[in-house]
Amino acid sequence: MDRYDETTPENIEEVVIIGSGPAGLTAALYAARADLKPIVITGDALGGQLGTTSEVENYPGAAKEHLTGPELIDDMRSQAERFGARLVYDSVTEVDFTGPFHRVKTFGEEYWAKSVIVTTGASPRKLGVPGEEQYTGYGVSYCATCDGFFFRDKEVIVVGGGDSALEEGLFLTKFAKRVRVIHRRDELRAGQLLQSRAAANEKMSFIWNTVVTAIEGEDGAVTRVLIENRVTGETDVLEADGVFIYIGHYPNSALFDGILEMDEHGYVLTDERKRTGIAGIFAAGEINDPIFRQAITSAGEGCKAAMQCEKYLSELGAVPEPGGPGRSLASW
Ligand code: NAP
Repeated sequence: MDRYDETTPENIEEVVIIGSGPAGLTAALYAARADLKPIVITGDALGGQLGTTSEVENYPGAAKEHLTGPELIDDMRSQAERFGARLVYDSVTEVDFTGPFHRVKTFGEEYWAKSVIVTTGASPRKLGVPGEEQYTGYGVSYCATCDGFFFRDKEVIVVGGGDSALEEGLFLTKFAKRVRVIHRRDELRAGQLLQSRAAANEKMSFIWNTVVTAIEGEDGAVTRVLIENRVTGETDVLEADGVFIYIGHYPNSALFDGILEMDEHGYVLTDERKRTGIAGIFAAGEINDPIFRQAITSAGEGCKAAMQCEKYLSELGAVPEPGGPGRSLASW
């Protein structure tokens, strides 16, 4: 089929970027500076996980003390927009990568593009215990930056033993009366610096080898958590006004089920040039990274995707038509 015929949509974008975390906004910056006028579909919330991070200390160059995730994201957004990126505050509901042009449908619009960069990131994992869903927004939270303020002088529980649990737990000590971290092992996964800070913080304490088995409340708000020691089997009830859950993430790839190749955990597979198995479709950031998951690594991967995308578009006439599932990575 000829690339341009009577079925060709009127407006064909060079590139649509799905997602607005560090990967998406960096891809947007590079694509914009390559004059591709990228459309960035932000998703539910601008910035993804970085948009809900309380403090950023390890993004090179962003050295300001007490820099928040939203501030850094806002800088990334304005930098990308300065060079011509167009942000659309909407979420993608459907994609079709089978035709000569790629279709990206949102709640409000439909876009056609020669290429798409998928940077949909990852979302906080749920505990899956009774009460968690019922009290989400009523004491159960996955975002200390968003909700910490509501827990001034309150009893707060943090679940998890990684960097997020400690970093966000430390942030919560600014408000809460006490922050107790419940971890399923007796050793933290978090880095040494955060461990030392947590140990030195008088408001913070740890409950080891323990899991939360239920979250309960009264009058529509959390009042206690039920816990169980994994070593002794002992159970207990802890009074709590807030439960902040930081037990890792899962990739936001459901939209691409059956469309893009994924590993057994749902991470989208790419080659080292960020190309998926479909010509013109790239993926970068946490959707594609189960290992490093840092703002800086996601930004770097977004940069790679945009550079490769630019190369793809400039060579488009010389390569096979985009679209067509099952195309091997080596073929485009
Ligand atoms: P993570 O490193 O995967 O840690 C998740 C924690 O939750 C682990 O301690 C894990 O326990 C625990 N966990 C998992 N499933 C659980 C369950 N069902 N019940 C109870 N506990 C459970 O996740 P993260 O802390 O969100 O960090 C993600 C990535 O972002 C990491 O690479 C991290 O280094 C990075 N990060 C970096 C910073 C920073 O550099 N300042 C800040 C935040 C995040 P086990 O330890 O037993 O597995």
